Amino acid sequence: MKKRNQPHLFSRREFLGHLAILGGLLLLPRWARAADKVVLSTRKLGVVLVGLGNYSAYHLGPALKETPRLRLAGVVTGEADKGRRWAREYGFPEKNVWNYDTMGQIAGNPDVDLIYIVTPNGLHAQHAIAAAKTGKHVICEKPMANTVAECDAIIAACQAAGVQLFIGYRLHFEAHDVEFARYGREGTFGTFMKMNGGNGFRVDNDMKNWRLDPKLSGGGPLMDMGVYVIQAACMAKGEVAPVSITAKFGPTKRPKVFTQVEESVNWTMIFGDGAAAECLATYDDNVSSFRAEGDKGWAKLNYPAFYYDPATLTTSKGPVHFPNVNQQVAQFEGIAATLLDGVPNLVPGSMGRRDMAIVEAIYTSARSGGSSVAVKA
Ligand code: NAD
Repeated sequence: MKKRNQPHLFSRREFLGHLAILGGLLLLPRWARAADKVVLSTRKLGVVLVGLGNYSAYHLGPALKETPRLRLAGVVTGEADKGRRWAREYGFPEKNVWNYDTMGQIAGNPDVDLIYIVTPNGLHAQHAIAAAKTGKHVICEKPMANTVAECDAIIAACQAAGVQLFIGYRLHFEAHDVEFARYGREGTFGTFMKMNGGNGFRVDNDMKNWRLDPKLSGGGPLMDMGVYVIQAACMAKGEVAPVSITAKFGPTKRPKVFTQVEESVNWTMIFGDGAAAECLATYDDNVSSFRAEGDKGWAKLNYPAFYYDPATLTTSKGPVHFPNVNQQVAQFEGIAATLLDGVPNLVPGSMGRRDMAIVEAIYTSARSGGSSVAVKA
């Protein structure tokens, strides 16, 4: 018998079961799972990264070197020299270096299956729509765009082009988060009714950071970090959106830095069954965790829940451990499983749009001084 508070070390079989859920492999057609052997396509898809900033350089590019069924096939960058350096490092032809004006030429390029938008938030709509028009599948970083209207335009462009749209929600492919979502879906600890969490870091005083320019960022820490907290709350409720929001901006402690976007914001999400999630997004402090409580127990994604560090999960029954994986590799493999094996898209545009509708309700409430605002997700 398992003792209370002992770590739950998953067996290889259990872990593979979870990975299968992660990749959605259990949803594969029966013929593909004949005799307990999963038949997977071994084709390697080509992806183009649009925007070679920090996330591309330090996370997505390196992850592509380790991803079994995706490879870097080209880049879109404003700096041709940088693009050629990437071509040498990643072994794709220099002709596959485009700039923001020539990215339409990706259409018809047989090396490319997918285009990944990794530019500032305020440019996602423009770049994702240009990507969809090439007829390639699209991955768009979070937050999906600056507004719900932009999300609608991206979704419409992808539908018109007949391509898949994925949002860069890497934690939907991370085992601890997948397990946390399962508790919410299956009611392992009862229905989660009381939730709280936050996400943030302390930004430096660099006035040139696009994250402080609302045209490029769409807002402050809510857009950048708060989206993860929104995601965790919706996961805990079985991917259901809240019905209403109340929100307040926090105090501005560094007024010279936060002239155009909030320094922090607190909000409460109320769900249809009366469940409430108290949430925080901040550029003033390193916080990153989320706890959900039901009438049979609780589960907590521990600090630093939403960063790239190895994730940890604790529940009222004890800690839960899965092997740590590179989150970006897991995300890319999950996307490959959708495109190559027909597994459902776990991070569709509708999810990015839902989160943006919640963001808009939070800003509307905070700007009104805290009135209750209905979520039109
Ligand atoms: P960054 O500033 O490091 O990189 C942005 C890139 O966009 C740069 O290559 C820059 O040259 C390019 N760019 C093109 N047009 C630009 C313009 N007009 N102004 C400024 N830059 C322009 O930013 P980043 O941290 O790589 O973030 C990029 C996107 O990725 C954002 O949407 C961010 O939210 C997202 N992101 C996601 C994660 C995650 O874990 N999923 C992590 C980090 C960033």
